[in-house]
Amino acid sequence: MTAVAIDGPAGAGKSTIARAISREMSFVYVDTGALYRAIGLYMIKNRIDGDESIVSALNKVKVDLKFVDNEQEIFLCGEEVSGEIRTPEVSMMASRVSAILAVRKFLLDLQRDLAKKNNVIMDGRDIGTVILPDADVKIFLTASLEKRAERRYKEMLEKGLNVTYDGILSDIKKRDYDDSHRKVAPLKPAADAILVDTSDYSLEESIKLVLDVIRKKLI
Ligand code: C5P
Repeated sequence: MTAVAIDGPAGAGKSTIARAISREMSFVYVDTGALYRAIGLYMIKNRIDGDESIVSALNKVKVDLKFVDNEQEIFLCGEEVSGEIRTPEVSMMASRVSAILAVRKFLLDLQRDLAKKNNVIMDGRDIGTVILPDADVKIFLTASLEKRAERRYKEMLEKGLNVTYDGILSDIKKRDYDDSHRKVAPLKPAADAILVDTSDYSLEESIKLVLDVIRKKLI
C-alpha cells in the first residue's frame, strides 16, 4: 500500500488539496481532523470538560468513518455528524481534546488500519511524525496566518455560518499555538517532510504543485 501524509496548520488548504489529489490518484482521502472534531462534539453535547472527565468519557464514544464515492462520512455513536463538526466551537474543542494523550491513543489504530488496507492520502497534524512515520511521501503544507484566516473565513461564510474575520483569525492563532506547543504529537514537520507554502498560489496552482511533488517522490 502507498501512503501520502499531509500535515500542517489550520487553513493551509490540506483538505481541499488532498481531496482533489485523492481523486486524481484514486487514493482514499482520510481527513483525520474529523476524528478529533467528533470527539470534541461528543464532549460539547454531553457538557463534559476537564481532562479527567474527557478521558473517562472515552469508553462511551464510538467514532466510525465511511467512504461514499471517496467522500468521507463521520459517525459519532451511530449518528452522522459530518456537517455538525464544522463549526468554530467544535474546532476549538477538537484542538483541546487532541492535546490529551488518551484521546490520541484512542484514535491511533483506526488511522493506521485505514493505511494498512488502502492507498491513502491522509491529512492532519502528526501523520508524518507519529501515525505513519514510514509514509511514502510526507508533505508539510503551510501558508501565512492571514491567508489561512481569509480562506477559512470565506469557507465559513459560504456555509452560512455567522463568523467574523477577526474571530476566525484569533481562533486560528490560538489553535496554531496550542497544536504546536502541546506535549503529545505537536504540530511540526517530519524531518523528511517536503515543505510547501501555498500563500502566493491559487487553489489550482497549489493542487498542481503538491501533485507534482507526490508524483516525483513516487517514481
Ligand atoms: O484539521 P482540522 O482543523 O479539522 O483539525 C481540528 C483539530 O484537531 C486541530 O486543530 C488539531 O488540534 C486536531 N488534530 C490533531 N491531529 C490530527 C488532526 C487534527 O491534533 N491529525
